[in-house]
Amino acid sequence: MKYVNHITELIGNTPLIKLNKIAKEIPGTILAKLEFCNPGHSIKDRIGIQMIEDAEKSGKLKQGGTIIESTSGNTGMGLALAAIKKDYKMIVTMPDKMSVEKIDILKAMGVEVIITPTNVAPEDPQSYYSTAKNLEKKIKNSFYVNQYDNLANRITHYKTTGPEIWEQTEGKITHLIAGVGTGGTITGCAMFLKKQKESIKIWGIDTYGSVYKKFHETGIFDKNEIYSYTTEGIGEDIIPKNVDFKLIDHFEKVHDKDAANMTRKLAKEEGILAGNSCGAALAGVYQLKEKLSKNDVTVVILPDHGSRYIGKIYNDKWMRQQKFL
Ligand code: PMP
Repeated sequence: MKYVNHITELIGNTPLIKLNKIAKEIPGTILAKLEFCNPGHSIKDRIGIQMIEDAEKSGKLKQGGTIIESTSGNTGMGLALAAIKKDYKMIVTMPDKMSVEKIDILKAMGVEVIITPTNVAPEDPQSYYSTAKNLEKKIKNSFYVNQYDNLANRITHYKTTGPEIWEQTEGKITHLIAGVGTGGTITGCAMFLKKQKESIKIWGIDTYGSVYKKFHETGIFDKNEIYSYTTEGIGEDIIPKNVDFKLIDHFEKVHDKDAANMTRKLAKEEGILAGNSCGAALAGVYQLKEKLSKNDVTVVILPDHGSRYIGKIYNDKWMRQQKFL
């Protein structure tokens, strides 16, 4: 009989798909890596199980313990799959700008969700980072995963996502484009891909309201770059340990409006109902199309599924309220 023993065994080995209509003005071959084909519908399934097994090995997490994480939603889902498999309790803290679907999905998976204000500094005791850290202090036998600084995050992509892309493109990849949140995806993939072929260009997608691009180009952490934005999952107001800036050749900032509209276009023109940061990544490739040529093979990571954005990106009323239509 052909079956797997647990849903977590379906993580990884996601398909690569050629973009057609939507990419016709971009030179070369544009391939999208469909990370929403993971069983929890996002790329974060890959790191969830890995970070938990790492913590078990190092003794930081023991049987019957509680997993705590600050997350924009997807890592919560990836961790929830691991928590269910291994019988851990789980609590997540999430900023209040996140879509209601992400919150309800986590609750459906048995996770306790604590909502925190978006517009506070990371060091503010109310922030989602501080709330998670304080919970770890209060709850006995608990483990704060911290996907930002936990290097098991980027190592997972070094071991899985990077090699998959290399094999699927038969080593022909010339450019990798990925949104940068914790930096785990882009850094892990870059570590692997640049080791195979140093000339592969790694472009990170950033948002307006995030510190990354300026920090990469000047070394300055500029607090004036920080303001609230609607794009979910990418851009930061901190510098996580998972980002290795040396491996990223360029950061491209994308406006919320362009990210949202490109996300909708991807559904209408390619039949790919993807998440908000997928549109951001593709809008970034558009902005950089002059740098590409006809023999290039560009891989764009599509981190999560559109079902998490039905009330936002795919809702005309919300889009109008944001002045995106
Ligand atoms: N897109 C979405 C929807 C995400 O949830 C995340 C993770 N925050 C990313 C992109 C960025 O991935 P990474 O954290 O690996 O940089």
